[in-house]
Amino acid sequence: MTEPVLRMRSVRKTFGGSVVLRDVDLDVAPHTVTALIGASGSGKSTLLRCANLLEEIDDGAIWLDGEEITDPRTDADAVRRRIGIVFQAYNLFPHLTVLENVTLAPRRVHGIARKTAEEQARELLERLGLGAKADEYPDRLSGGQQQRAAIVRALAVRPRLLLLDEITAALDPELVGEVLDVVRDVKNEGMTMVLATHEMSFAREVADQVCFLEGGVVLEHGTPEAVFGDPRQERTRRFLRRIV
Ligand code: ADP
Ligand code: MG
Repeated sequence: MTEPVLRMRSVRKTFGGSVVLRDVDLDVAPHTVTALIGASGSGKSTLLRCANLLEEIDDGAIWLDGEEITDPRTDADAVRRRIGIVFQAYNLFPHLTVLENVTLAPRRVHGIARKTAEEQARELLERLGLGAKADEYPDRLSGGQQQRAAIVRALAVRPRLLLLDEITAALDPELVGEVLDVVRDVKNEGMTMVLATHEMSFAREVADQVCFLEGGVVLEHGTPEAVFGDPRQERTRRFLRRIV
């Protein structure tokens, strides 16, 4: 079996005594998309934040490419440089152009020369349909374009894994499609992704693996066909009936 890009075992996370993730196991194979679904408060964002070491777990362990990143000796900054994350909103620095936003981390964190960073950024923006927006400031872009630019910015450092936390949740419905198109393109380029989403039809189409969370527990996981088409748990059925 190929080594998973991300592996979580018995991950437990509490906030002030309340358990937010309970015994979470997850394997994310290379070049696959894992969709986290579940009601608000079920632990999707916390799971993503733990994977990125933005939150410290209470118990269990997490590996990135076979390296245990929850080991106390791990350099968390170095791990975060290998994992991109995009949130629901407010992703871009408003005082920087799109190009400057995209080249910031490659230049500052990875030490890539400005010219090279800009060439790579323009190429990536072009590929993801934002070539014409490179020199604009974020407030001149639609919400959908801003989220696409945020994805480009996360990709600019060539992460091993991309985490997307409800990146369409703050968008007007007519702008959702273009952002999902970019996620599809990024998947087709072979990026490994874990995304939390309320877009069930998108999860069904793009995901290789779907995990249904309830109360911080992965109640059910499997292919989209299995989880959406024939859920084993009554609670998954209930959630899906409510949402679709
Ligand atoms: P989801 O993304 O599925 O909506 P979250 O991971 O954001 O769920 O939240 C899971 C639970 O953890 C919720 O009950 C939430 O209130 C709680 N929680 C999340 N972050 C914090 C925090 N920083 N401090 C305390 N409680 C938190
Ligand atoms: Mg969330």
